[in-house]
Amino acid sequence: MHGKLELLMGPMRSNKTAELLRRADMRRQYAGQYVLILKPSDDTKGKPGVVESRNPNGHGKMEAVEFNSQNPWELLPMIAAREKEIGKRVECIAMDEGQFVEGLFLFTKHLLEDNHDVLIAGLDLDFRAVPFGEMLNLTWLVNAYGGNVTECIAYCTCGNRALYSQRLIDGKPAPYDSPIKMPGDSYEPRCAEHLVLPGNPH
Ligand SMILES: [Zn+2]
Repeated sequence: MHGKLELLMGPMRSNKTAELLRRADMRRQYAGQYVLILKPSDDTKGKPGVVESRNPNGHGKMEAVEFNSQNPWELLPMIAAREKEIGKRVECIAMDEGQFVEGLFLFTKHLLEDNHDVLIAGLDLDFRAVPFGEMLNLTWLVNAYGGNVTECIAYCTCGNRALYSQRLIDGKPAPYDSPIKMPGDSYEPRCAEHLVLPGNPH
């Protein structure tokens, strides 16, 4: 017996978090499952201990367990303790901002092998349009363990589909060589034509 993986990927403002919370809520309400919601310590949206959608019309927010993105394995004793406390299995583990988690592939594989269903939302590409963390690697786990991949859709202000997340610093396109993680930055979904990457060497 093993769990299945539901992967929610897309650029900024593609409603990934709202969709993650919607699915978590459905599992709780209709399937009677215990769903543990996790957020890595790098997630700067929302307050500590809460996963929050950026979309004001989205599914709001839910209580979450915050963990060190550099060592997700620290969660295993916490999950075991939670199962003891509630007297049953944690059927589903839902994680937001998966792109920040180090060793995400092996950690997710471990949870699936341990028979947890896993939901992971995250950015597929960083602001340079380069694969972000291990998110894209997880599609292999969907093939191997079952589940599904949902491409979350966002739109550029021109009306075309936006595949990219334009980082803005003080309202201007961020240079290509700015750090991958940057507090206080902001983003807009953009199509290929309107993505601006000053200093892009490629
Ligand atoms: Zn556009």
